[in-house]
Amino acid sequence: MRYAVLGTGIVGRTVAARLAALGHEVAVGTRDPEATLARTEPDHFGNVPFSEWLADHGQIRLESFADAAAWGEAVVNATQGAASLQTLEAAGAANLADKVLIDISNPLDFSQGVPPSLNPVNTDSLGEQLQRAFPEAKVVKTLNTMNCAIMMDPSLVAGEHNVFVSGDDDGAKKAVTELLVSIGWPQHAVLDLGGIETARGTEMLLPVWLRLYGAFGHSDFNFHIQVAGSSR
Ligand code: NAP
Repeated sequence: MRYAVLGTGIVGRTVAARLAALGHEVAVGTRDPEATLARTEPDHFGNVPFSEWLADHGQIRLESFADAAAWGEAVVNATQGAASLQTLEAAGAANLADKVLIDISNPLDFSQGVPPSLNPVNTDSLGEQLQRAFPEAKVVKTLNTMNCAIMMDPSLVAGEHNVFVSGDDDGAKKAVTELLVSIGWPQHAVLDLGGIETARGTEMLLPVWLRLYGAFGHSDFNFHIQVAGSSR
C-alpha cells in the first residue's frame, strides 16, 4: 500500500517509519520540502532535523503535501491540529477524494498558553471539520489518545489497553482496523465508537491525557476500558 503521511514532526516520523517497516511504500508530506531539508536545528521538541532522520530512512521520500497526497492510496494527517484544515487544503481535495484519511491530529489551542485548550470542542471536533471540508475523503479518527511510540508499538504498555476509531465509512474503519492489527493492536483492543462525531469524545480525552502526563511526569501510558463482566 502507498501511504502519504502528512507531517514531519515526531508523529509523522514514527508512523512513517513503522509503515515502511511493515513493507508499505511511504511518502512524508511537508509544506516546502527544500525548506524542511534545509533545517539544521532540532525542532522545538528537540527532535533531530528532518534531513538527519530521513538519511536513516532511505526508503521514505519527502514531498510537498499535495504531491504526497496525490501519490498515496491512503493519507495520514499528522499535522499540527490548528493547521490541519489549511494543510489538507494544500494537499488538495481532489488528492484526498475516495481515500481513507487517517486523522491522528488533536485540535490543541495554545493561544492562551499551557495547558492548551481545545478548539473546536464539545459540539464539534477537528475530525468532523475535516470530514465536512473534504466530503469525498473517508476520515477515520484514531490513535490521537496516546503518545506516538505507543500508537505504533502497543506492546510498550503492558496488559490490556485500547485504541478508538471514529468515522462515517464502515469500509474505511475496517481497513484502518486491519492496519492497526498489523501494527500490533489486538482486534479486541480496537473500539469502534461510531460516526465521525464521536471524535468529539476522543479529542476531549486530551485534557485528561495532559493532566495524567503532568501527574506521572511522562507519557508512557494509555487508556484501558474495562467492561464489567469481561475478563478484558
Ligand atoms: P506538530 O509539531 O504538531 O506538527 C508538525 C507538522 O504540522 C509539520 O509537518 C508542519 O509542516 C505542519 N504544519 C502545517 N502548517 C503549520 C503551521 N502553520 N505551523 C506549524 N506546523 C504546521 O507535530 P507532532 O508533534 O508530530 O504532532 C502531530 C499531530 O499529532 C498533532 O496534531 C498532535 O496534536 C497529534 N498527536 C501527537 C501525539 C504525540 O505523541 N506527539 C500524540 C497524539 C496526537 P512542516 O513539515 O512544513 O513543518
